[in-house]
Amino acid sequence: MEYQATIGLEIHAELRTKTKMFCASKNDPDEKHPNVNICPVCIGHPGTLPVINEEAVKLVHKVGLALGGEIQKFSRFDRKNYFYPDLPKGYQISQYKHPLVLGGNLKGVRITRIHLEEDAGKLIHDPNGKFSLVDFNRAGLPLMELVTEPDIKSAKEAKNFAEELQLVLQYLGASDANMEKGQMRCEANVSVMKVPHGKTLGVFGDSTPSVEESGASLGTKVEVKNLNSFRAVERAIDYEVKRQIELLESGKKVAQETRGWNENKEETFSQRSKESAHDYRYFPEPDLPPMEFTNEYIEELRAEIPELPEQKRNRLAEEYKLDAKAVEILVKDRGLSAFWEKVASELREWLSGKTLPGGKKPGFLAVSKPGFEELGSVEEESYKLAANYFTSDFLGLIKEKEIPPDELLVDPENFAELIKMIIKKEITSRVAKDVLRVMVEQGGDPSTWVEKMGLGQVSDSAQLEAIVKKVISENQKAVEDFKKGKQQSLQFLVGQVMKETKGAANPEVIRTLLTKIIGGV
Ligand code: ADP
Ligand code: MG
Repeated sequence: MEYQATIGLEIHAELRTKTKMFCASKNDPDEKHPNVNICPVCIGHPGTLPVINEEAVKLVHKVGLALGGEIQKFSRFDRKNYFYPDLPKGYQISQYKHPLVLGGNLKGVRITRIHLEEDAGKLIHDPNGKFSLVDFNRAGLPLMELVTEPDIKSAKEAKNFAEELQLVLQYLGASDANMEKGQMRCEANVSVMKVPHGKTLGVFGDSTPSVEESGASLGTKVEVKNLNSFRAVERAIDYEVKRQIELLESGKKVAQETRGWNENKEETFSQRSKESAHDYRYFPEPDLPPMEFTNEYIEELRAEIPELPEQKRNRLAEEYKLDAKAVEILVKDRGLSAFWEKVASELREWLSGKTLPGGKKPGFLAVSKPGFEELGSVEEESYKLAANYFTSDFLGLIKEKEIPPDELLVDPENFAELIKMIIKKEITSRVAKDVLRVMVEQGGDPSTWVEKMGLGQVSDSAQLEAIVKKVISENQKAVEDFKKGKQQSLQFLVGQVMKETKGAANPEVIRTLLTKIIGGV
């Protein structure tokens, strides 16, 4: 027998609205002073009445549409009753029977439901246990809850799912979903079960057989709360899976309970057992009207859904032939991808009406690659060249210097200019790398740098010829060897000329010139 882990996630996200869920208090996640953004409604004064924030409802609906879920034509709020000091009304307005969205799918994981509720206040406990403080700025913020089916098979998949959801929320503008700021919070339901050898469930995606197909039944689940980073999601689930397998292996049972995650010790600990589970006495919220949504409304919202992360991945890969690693960097960073798209459109515009040196049509590049001109479309090669400089050199430099995208000194126009200079054979790739480095460090446009640094491609053939002749006369041994057929010697001579020109000459041109002059000697 082998063990198979099963995981279902419950993810909360604070929505990015101007005001709170049921009142006009500000929704400002950056407010540092406690109890500033509050009013009689969100601190639960008797006699006050809630009003539904339409924007919050729309944002949840957009998430539902983005994930292929079904917007419920009828939906309403319910009261979830419990007592806790961060909940001034003694109940949370949530949704139970009629959530806003049912169904959907993300990365092969089925979504059970998405509903809307209000957040609670924040408790700050005295480390010595003498008192607790409460900040109601967060009380009543619109909070989306998304619940998945138990379709996830490993800690890593759970983390991937949560990361992808974060991206979707950010793309939609539904939530900043910053986990450090508590704007996105995860709970993981974890169980393990024995499955016969060879019947292990597939991983992720379409090939995953359902639990029924595998012939197994799900084990007892444990809910792990307070996972406030992606790392915590992964670590806590890994820990919990191991713990449960060890229990079963030693003949014990897994207790159905809620556990917390101790970040420092990297272990889960028991918080409450099933016996002490709450009875929330849900009932329809009498102070709010039920909601009904028309097809027209749904279609209007659908039209507002922007390009989503997965669509963007496919487009970037297809349109610019970027490799998977580069695509991922761009998809995760909207600042950088906006930069790249501007570079690409500059190049596209330039290439579309261009005749290059030697009368060639667009973009027969200064890439010293034999047979290059036969390779695919010219535009495609130009993007590939730009993509290479962008993903390996440029992103490498940004990472090395830890520059945030909004503090970049290079702008897309200058970056595109640099690529154009390579294509026009004004500079060699060696020089381009050096110029890019100073551009990243100090800004400015590439042609100015090339001039300042004396790095312009030596294209003046008389000047280059003089250098080649000098190198030939100073390296007679290599010249003789080359004449005898030793190709390495030619390479050596090319290197010597490159050195003389500080890398600013085109190696192809040097090679041709050397061969010509040596042959004619
Ligand atoms: P509860 O009634 O205890 O809240 P739910 O049926 O609402 O349980 O499920 C809550 C979450 O737990 C969902 O994400 C669901 O996919 C997940 N879940 C349910 N059963 C299991 C299980 N046996 N193992 C892992 N996750 C599970
Ligand atoms: Mg539940």
